[in-house]
Amino acid sequence: MATGNINVSVENIFPLIKKFLYSDHEIFLRELISNATDATLKLKHLTNIGEAKVDYGSPKIEVKIDKENKQLHIIDQGIGMTKDEVEKYINQIAFSGAEEFLEKYKEKNGKDTGIIGHFGLGFYSAFMVASKVEILTKSYKDEPAARWTCDGSPEYTLEETDKTERGTEIILHIADDSTEFLEEGRIDSLLHKYNKFMPIPIKFGTKEANVAKEDTKEGDKKEKVEIDNIINNPNPAWTKQPADLNEEDYKSFYRELYPMQFEEPLFNIHLNVDYPFNLTGILYFPRLGQDMNMQKDRIQLYQNQVYVTDNVEGIVPEFLTMLRGVIDSPDIPLNVSRSYLQADGAVKKISSYITRKVADKLTSLFNDNREDFEKKWNDIKIVIEYGMLSEDKFFEKSNKFALYPTVDGTYFTFEELQEKIKDTQTDKDGKLVILYASNKDEQHAYIEAAKEKGYEVLLLDSPIVSHLIQKLESEKEKVSFVRVDGDHIDNLIKKDDEAISKLNEEEKTTLKTILEEIVPKQKFSVQLEAMDSNASPFIITQPEFMRRMKEMSQTGGGGMFGMGNMPEMYNLVVNTNHELVIEILNTKTKKKQERLITQALDLARLSQNLLKGEELTAFIKRSYEMIK
Ligand code: ADP
Repeated sequence: MATGNINVSVENIFPLIKKFLYSDHEIFLRELISNATDATLKLKHLTNIGEAKVDYGSPKIEVKIDKENKQLHIIDQGIGMTKDEVEKYINQIAFSGAEEFLEKYKEKNGKDTGIIGHFGLGFYSAFMVASKVEILTKSYKDEPAARWTCDGSPEYTLEETDKTERGTEIILHIADDSTEFLEEGRIDSLLHKYNKFMPIPIKFGTKEANVAKEDTKEGDKKEKVEIDNIINNPNPAWTKQPADLNEEDYKSFYRELYPMQFEEPLFNIHLNVDYPFNLTGILYFPRLGQDMNMQKDRIQLYQNQVYVTDNVEGIVPEFLTMLRGVIDSPDIPLNVSRSYLQADGAVKKISSYITRKVADKLTSLFNDNREDFEKKWNDIKIVIEYGMLSEDKFFEKSNKFALYPTVDGTYFTFEELQEKIKDTQTDKDGKLVILYASNKDEQHAYIEAAKEKGYEVLLLDSPIVSHLIQKLESEKEKVSFVRVDGDHIDNLIKKDDEAISKLNEEEKTTLKTILEEIVPKQKFSVQLEAMDSNASPFIITQPEFMRRMKEMSQTGGGGMFGMGNMPEMYNLVVNTNHELVIEILNTKTKKKQERLITQALDLARLSQNLLKGEELTAFIKRSYEMIK
């Protein structure tokens, strides 16, 4: 038997591996199964090209727990290694690989687990959970099998052994602090997490199955037999060609990916490129509605069918992290930190490719079946609007499919909207004034008033709408958005013939003084206006700019610093042509005047949803008094 030191020239890395810096000790299993898969695929390749003259057969990888002896076995039927190869690959190459990985890790003081999926530690990750590791391996070449052992010190043993089946068996003597990895449930869930779609079948125990009895023709004569329990689907949908898949295949893959997700996806996007980088995958648009919170079913990142992570931040543009599905690319560097990743050229290309594919898909869905697209709009708009805000390329493309629904459920593209309202809603400076509501119920009175004047009112109710509007105003020419309850919309659209005021200048001054005595100054600025006598006597509006800045600072970024804490300030627009207002002016007793103003103001506040708490109670009480 040969014994030796794996590498005498460097410090001992075993203690470092053992109390490894990150908590994800579990990744050892993924690493060892990846090695087993590679070894099997290598053999496949060698037999294909005639290099290996052995029968490839239908190899599997087996994971076995031996609880009694506290061992975990990972067995493959791949190329195996000769004794010399163990010396070379395990003692030298794998060791220096692990060393390099740990060096990188140490630079970050072990704090930053930004190294995506902790790829790169390889074979030696076994020592995170094992006090001793054995390798039994027989090469496909006609050479004796080898046995390597190492107990986590730099000493190892290497000798010939009598293993006859081709392939490699890794035996982990599980350390006392890692006995969780001897639990069937724990291993089972790890295999499902990391290996669900790996290309070689993975056996973990057996299960009972019903099979038709041989020698009988009747199908219902079934027999219970033990069959291999195969953990994975070696041919997941994303590895196939889009032409070979139908709608149902995509849906059933979605269920496979998210077994706990019962809602069907709205549509999918199959990603498939091999130049200038390799990437495959399927993205799904889930029904999102107004919910911007990150869901737990996230996009999963794979590398050659090995699960890496479901944190795709930095790889997929942020607005698309709300989607679901898988991305598989060998070209994403995984042993680097996320900040490095974002600067990586290949990754940038991947990210913009994905953005483009999503935009193309949305364009074709819109063109192929507009009606259906409109039906889905409410569920997908969050992603699209967020994308328009954050990615300029996407913003440009969105012109073709971004929709602007009206309160009555008509959907316009921006161009269509422009065309529709340009005659009625262009102000004196030639600016197109787009009216919108954010809540049909709360702004009902204002919406009705605007519609009565023949204006189109959009319903823009996403949480990020104030940001989007800001963006549209700066990107599109001569456009301004005004919420229906914004500073009086007729100020912007001076199309109506100016109504003639029933009051003269002197009366107006008197009226204003009377009003300002009663109306709280710190909340309302009083403005007199001659409107239609059928319009409301008191109307509360909010300066569009102020309200929007406030909303923007509440939803983060974009708004002005400190805007969130500004006191609310409103306009009180008083219709000098309304009978009630004229009555207020002409009432002789101060008391009645005060009562009329207070009541009218409260009604205006009520229609703006501004009357709350004590003031609301007082209003109701007063109203009962008045009608009894
Ligand atoms: P990597 O897989 O990234 O090369 P590892 O440290 O995991 O690094 O493994 C080092 C090398 O050891 C592999 O490249 C391979 O040559 C050899 N090896 C590891 N596991 C096996 C196995 N199950 N069968 C055959 N060779 C293996």
